[in-house]
Amino acid sequence: MRLIDTLSRKQPEHTGGPTGRVYLKAKGRYADYCDLCWRPSEVTAKGDQRDEDNRKLSTSRRFCSEHNPQTSASNYRRDLKFKADFWAEMENIRKLGLARYDTKFKFIPDETTPSGWELHLVPVSAHPEDVRRAAYALVHSKLRGTPAQCLAMKMQGLSPQETAVRLGITDRTVRLALSGVMPKLKQAEVIRWGEAPRSRIASRMAPQTCVL
Ligand SMILES: [Zn+2]
Repeated sequence: MRLIDTLSRKQPEHTGGPTGRVYLKAKGRYADYCDLCWRPSEVTAKGDQRDEDNRKLSTSRRFCSEHNPQTSASNYRRDLKFKADFWAEMENIRKLGLARYDTKFKFIPDETTPSGWELHLVPVSAHPEDVRRAAYALVHSKLRGTPAQCLAMKMQGLSPQETAVRLGITDRTVRLALSGVMPKLKQAEVIRWGEAPRSRIASRMAPQTCVL
């Protein structure tokens, strides 16, 4: 029973259950997924659409409908800034084998950070869509940097004062960063796990429910 519970917990609604997953196949030189997120590219999702006169519609080969530069220019410009980090984090997820962990997030040793640890979101499975969701959620949630480092040091048992000295910032900044971590993780969870009903998103994101 416990195993069944574990398995069912690892199958968010967007997956349609264990048999509901679709592995996208790129058609020719079209991208299977959007360059900027976890959604299928427009051509993969809709096919190469044409109007009545057989003229090609502006169906993007590289982007989803949310990020099509011709029809959603502002979304495209907003998320283009995150593209390099998004792709780097997808590579990290694969390299570090993060999909094997049964947690929402994971600190992995990283000598380049002040705490010696770096925060990663764990994909719900190794499926490309889930890897993309976890990478997108992390880079768009503003968890990296000070919030993640403050959380890592708190988990190492450092006080806010000690953390402030190590990071060269004020106590107040540390406390603010720590109080902001849980709302950010909850916001990221909506993307990592998949779309949840609106009422549940609202209650999950309510700041008063955030306790560290
Ligand atoms: Zn997209």
